[in-house]
Amino acid sequence: MTKQYNNNHYNITTIITIDQHSGFCFGVTRAITKAEQELQSGALYCLGDIVHNGQECQRLEQLGLQTIDYDDLRTLHHARVLLRAHGEPPSTYWIAQQRSIQLIDATCPVVKKLQDRIRNCYLTHKADSTLPPQILIYGKPGHAEVIGLQGQTHDTAIVIESPNQLDRIDFTRPIYLFSQTTKSVEGFHALVDAIRAQIKNLNSPITLEAHDTICRNVANRVAQLQAFARNNDIVIFVGGTKSSNARVLFNHCLEANPNTIFISSPDQLINHPLLQKTNPDCRVGICGATSTPLWLMEQCKEQLIKALPST
Ligand code: SF4
Repeated sequence: MTKQYNNNHYNITTIITIDQHSGFCFGVTRAITKAEQELQSGALYCLGDIVHNGQECQRLEQLGLQTIDYDDLRTLHHARVLLRAHGEPPSTYWIAQQRSIQLIDATCPVVKKLQDRIRNCYLTHKADSTLPPQILIYGKPGHAEVIGLQGQTHDTAIVIESPNQLDRIDFTRPIYLFSQTTKSVEGFHALVDAIRAQIKNLNSPITLEAHDTICRNVANRVAQLQAFARNNDIVIFVGGTKSSNARVLFNHCLEANPNTIFISSPDQLINHPLLQKTNPDCRVGICGATSTPLWLMEQCKEQLIKALPST
């Protein structure tokens, strides 16, 4: 989506492009479509923010979606609750059953499959041994998806974020490693290498079963986003401040193009110092995270046209 502006108001020809690969991933789009459909049949709650983007949450709130937390869930009765793409631990399904809550399960099928794999691994190896199997999850502690994955193992899985945390692993027991779907492929392989090196150092007879369960929907975006950032003089990254995916992708953009700025709403473009430095024929790219709605990037483009320096 490329647009050129060269009129009486601007002394430059600015090309503004919205990155065609940015925006909601398949799982988030699916959850939002489900919410919109279900809202037509009456009151609907969502357990946690449906997407880590304040503006999109607000838009859905205006349509009637009410965001609740676990404490609220325990007080509801005979209500309809949507489970977002991140997925939930088994305890959430149990609470819903106890309270006659109808769940609208919008867990992303990719996450659902990962939950099943972790649960099967846990149950299979639990039957083999008196000790619970040592399942590692490469992920961010406390992240909603990770809580759902840990729940598949009765919360026995160890969440590990970097090779600096190897001291949390018992190198006398077999290791089964999985990854949160939105983590980086490089980070996962660095962790696998570090675990293998430690097994060798310790001369341990244990095995490591490493399952790369990273969603390519997100992983492939890094290369695409960096190419986009390099192709523009200025990059405006639009993302929610609560989104870890937005922070990660923004940093990749910044690495490819130091003239990258992070904004959460179009009004942050007003009087932005970087935009005052635009040169003739400047190329400005607008991109975002997997949680950034297209309509928000379009609004940023409109604001950008107003914010660019005029003659
Ligand atoms: S990033 Fe992948 S796994 Fe996660 S919600 Fe999106 S499509 Fe599903």
